[in-house]
Amino acid sequence: MNKLAYATIAQLKSMLEKNEITQKEVLDNCLQRFAKYNPILNCAIQLFDADSILQECIIQGPLAGIPGIFKDNIAQKDRRLSCASKILDGYTVMYDSTASARAKQAGGLLVGRANLDEFAMGSSTETSYFGKTKNPWDTKRVPGGSSGGSAAAVAAGLVPWALGSDTGGSVRQPAAFCGIVGIKPTYGLVSRYGLVAYGSSLDQIGVFSRTIQDNARVLSVIAGHDMRDSTSLRVGKKDYTQNLKDASGKGLRIGVVENALYAEGMDPEIVQSIEQAIAVYEKMGATIQKIKLTSFDYAAAAYFIISRAEAASNLARFDGVRYAFRAKDAKTLYDMYCDTRHDGFGNEVKNRILVGNYVLSAGHAGAFYNNATLVRRMIRAELQKAFKSVDVLIMPTHPMPAFEIGAFDKNKLQMDLQDYFTCPMNLSGNPAISIPCGFTKQNLPIGMQLIGPHLSEELLYKTAYVYEQETKWFEKKPKGFE
Ligand code: GLN
Repeated sequence: MNKLAYATIAQLKSMLEKNEITQKEVLDNCLQRFAKYNPILNCAIQLFDADSILQECIIQGPLAGIPGIFKDNIAQKDRRLSCASKILDGYTVMYDSTASARAKQAGGLLVGRANLDEFAMGSSTETSYFGKTKNPWDTKRVPGGSSGGSAAAVAAGLVPWALGSDTGGSVRQPAAFCGIVGIKPTYGLVSRYGLVAYGSSLDQIGVFSRTIQDNARVLSVIAGHDMRDSTSLRVGKKDYTQNLKDASGKGLRIGVVENALYAEGMDPEIVQSIEQAIAVYEKMGATIQKIKLTSFDYAAAAYFIISRAEAASNLARFDGVRYAFRAKDAKTLYDMYCDTRHDGFGNEVKNRILVGNYVLSAGHAGAFYNNATLVRRMIRAELQKAFKSVDVLIMPTHPMPAFEIGAFDKNKLQMDLQDYFTCPMNLSGNPAISIPCGFTKQNLPIGMQLIGPHLSEELLYKTAYVYEQETKWFEKKPKGFE
C-alpha cells in the first residue's frame, strides 16, 4: 500500500518535519491518486495543477503541506465555483471565503473542487450537473449528500481532510455513509463568508476526516469569530486537539435518544452497532440514560419548510445578470430572467424554489412558515432541557446504510426523510458529529451521532476520541482504493 494514502495529518506532518518527504511529493501523490480514482468516483469536479496550488499557500502552519479539498460551494479566490449547477458553470470567484483564507494561511494545499448535490440540495450527490459521485465502499451506491464528493475523497484516502456544508445533515450523513468522521459545528462557529447560501439560518461549514484528531485540527484552523459574517459568534480561536489525550469516558453522562434509536424503519444492524457502542461507553465508566425528545418527530417537516423558504430567497440572485450563465435569444428582460432560471437550474432546485415561495406567500405563511419556526423553538428548548441532565446525546446519523444509486428516483419523500436524524441540530444550532461505529454484513459503514450543547465541540471530540481509540474503525479501508 502507498504509505501516503490514508496517512493522517499528524503522520504526514511528522514525515514532512523529519524531511522524509517534501510538500511537493505529498501533493503529487495526492494528485496522482485523484487521477487514478476520480474517474471511478467522480468526487472532484475540478483538480488544480500542482504549481498553482503550491503558490497559494505558505510553508508553515498547522496544515502546512497537507492536501485537502473544498466542496464546490465554498469560495476560493480565482478558482471556479459552480455549486454543481449549470447556472454557475464557468463562474470564477474573486475572493476567498474565510474558511479558504484561513486554510491557506495555515499552509493547507487546496487541491480542487469537490462534487455535491446541486446547490447542496440533496442527500445522495445524484443531482450534480457534473454527474453522480460514487461511494468507495460500493460504487453502485451513493456516498450520501449533499457533500458526497468531499466525503468520498476522504474515505478513499485521496485527501486526509475536506470541507463540506451542513444545512440539514449534508456533512454528517455522507460521513456516515462513507465510514468517516464529519462534524457540523455550532451555528456561527465557522464563518459563512464565502459559502454560497442555501438556508442561511441553518448552514454551517463542517469538516470531514478519517480520525477525530485530524478533524479537531482542521476545525481549530477554520473556526472563530469573523467580522465578515454577521451571524458569526464572538468566540476566540481554540486548539481543539489539545486536551484529546486526557479524554476519558469515566463519569460521562450520556443520553440515548430512544425515540430515534428505536424509531420505526431503523435498520436492525444499525441499532445493534449503536447499542454495542453504548456498551463500550458504559464499560469505560460512562452512565447511560434513556431520553425521549418528542419534538424531533416534527423536525423534518419544519426543516422542509424553513430550508425551502430560505432557499427561494437566497437563489433569487441567480438571474442571468450577475453570474455566469445567461440564456440566449430572450426578447425581453423578463424573458431573459425566466429562460436563464429555467435552463440553468436543475429540477430539484426548481422544485425547492417553488415550494419555498409557496410557503412564504400571503395566506400560507401562517400555516407553514410560522408553525415551522415554533417547532424550531420547541426543539431548541427540549435540547436545552436535556443537557441539564446529560453531557452528550447519542443517536443514529441515518436510519439505513448507503443506498443504491437511483433507489429513490421515484420516491422523493424517502429521500427527503434522509435528514430525519440530522436536521434537528440545524434547526437548534447545536453541534453534532457523526463517527464510524461499525459495518453491516454487506461491508457498508455505519455512523452514529454525538450531540452536545452549544459550543461544546471540545467535549464532543473528547467523547468521540475515547470511543475511536477503543474501536479503531478507521483502520478499515475500502477495497480497490489502495
Ligand atoms: N438533505 C438535505 C437537503 O436536501 C440537507 C442538505 C444539506 O445539508 N445541505 O436539504
